[in-house]
Amino acid sequence: MQLNKIKVKTPIVEIDGDEMARVLWHMVKAQLIMPYLDANLEYYDLQLKNRDKTEDKITFEAAEAIKKHGVGVKCATITPDKKRVKEYNLKKEWSSPNATIRTVLDGTIFRAPILANNIPPAVRSWKKPIHIARHAYGDVYKNCEYRVPEAGKAELVFTNNAGKELFRGTIQDFTGSGVIQGMPNTDKSIERFAKVCFTYAYDQKLNVWFGAKDTISKTYDGQFRIIFEEEYRKNWAGKFKEAGLEYSFTLIDDTVARIMKTEGGLLWVCKNYDGDVMSDMLGSAYGSLAMVTSVLVSPDRCYEFEASHGTVQKHYYKYLKGERTSSNPMAIIFAWSGCLRKRGELDRTPEVVGFAKKLEEAALGTVESGVMTGDLIPVALPDPKNEQVYTEEFIAEVAKRLRKKME
Ligand code: NAP
Ligand code: MG
Repeated sequence: MQLNKIKVKTPIVEIDGDEMARVLWHMVKAQLIMPYLDANLEYYDLQLKNRDKTEDKITFEAAEAIKKHGVGVKCATITPDKKRVKEYNLKKEWSSPNATIRTVLDGTIFRAPILANNIPPAVRSWKKPIHIARHAYGDVYKNCEYRVPEAGKAELVFTNNAGKELFRGTIQDFTGSGVIQGMPNTDKSIERFAKVCFTYAYDQKLNVWFGAKDTISKTYDGQFRIIFEEEYRKNWAGKFKEAGLEYSFTLIDDTVARIMKTEGGLLWVCKNYDGDVMSDMLGSAYGSLAMVTSVLVSPDRCYEFEASHGTVQKHYYKYLKGERTSSNPMAIIFAWSGCLRKRGELDRTPEVVGFAKKLEEAALGTVESGVMTGDLIPVALPDPKNEQVYTEEFIAEVAKRLRKKME
């Protein structure tokens, strides 16, 4: 049966990547997206070889394209290290494309698990997704640290641009060797983070929990508290109340304890380090890295959707040897559906939003019917109908279900 393709009004920025994720990407696109959509995909190939060839210009162009069109979808890419420089014979160790795009868009990353009814979270009380926002700027990632070799005085000094010393405080009078570090953040970055977090939570109808340590770090963490409260009071309190939503700021230890008892369905706002650590904990507690999606949101409301896993290098080396793999394309499928839903909402094209929903139902339906990739079998509820399949078989099953829904 010939299907009428659904028209997508505005171009979508498609950012291709590396290794197994790239292989999955093309399977998903060919079998689950292109047969149903008449979309103008503005394509940027960020595979490592092409970043090298273009002196990484392609990464900046892709980021600018998202700024222009508002919505993009990205495949995982290799962040080169010394080994990769050798493996791909690179001109230099190019920086992380994700970091570049994040900087150009000044974006915040939100992560959320994909819940299937036969993959129970490790924490029994979790029924709905816990979304997490990581402030990916400053703190220990931008620190200055020093190995103190001997006894002496360590001080924190601030001198303004006019050369006037405004602050000097003793960190420690060392009686022997030790270590020190200093780390920064800026009001501007925290303000933008606050704006984006409340916008995301309001869009998705989620309560907001922010945990930090402002009882100990009265000035540093205290500044996060002040800025978030100010942004909430000025721009969100009324809207949140109307929508039945709440914002709370508590101590990080208290937040962690309450997270274990919640049903979920909230946005957990984290400082940089907490977000780094806690997002990995949530990912594994919800079953598999391949069941976590990720979206980068900028303060001027541009969106980049992606899977939160990497390029799945180990599977790719098997694939290169001609072996079949059971890699999980769920997060990649949900990156596409997330991107299409957002594009449809912005364009006011309910058909596109409807397609995104059907695509997700087809994918979840497949997992819930017991057809799964290898990463999910050990964490799924035991059932005689559970069957581990290869990637191609999994995608074929999703395609079959999707086709039925679209006819
Ligand atoms: P990874 O690609 O996330 O894979 C780590 C392990 O997690 C895999 O070996 C696999 O475990 C499991 N896994 C991840 N995704 C899976 C999937 N879709 N299906 C089944 N299993 C999955 O991380 P990595 O191997 O540490 O990193 C590889 C490359 O990815 C690196 O070059 C890194 O720079 C890049 N990376 C990119 C991004 C991004 O662009 N967003 C994010 C992270 C890492 P088993 O081997 O046990 O099956
Ligand atoms: Mg981490």
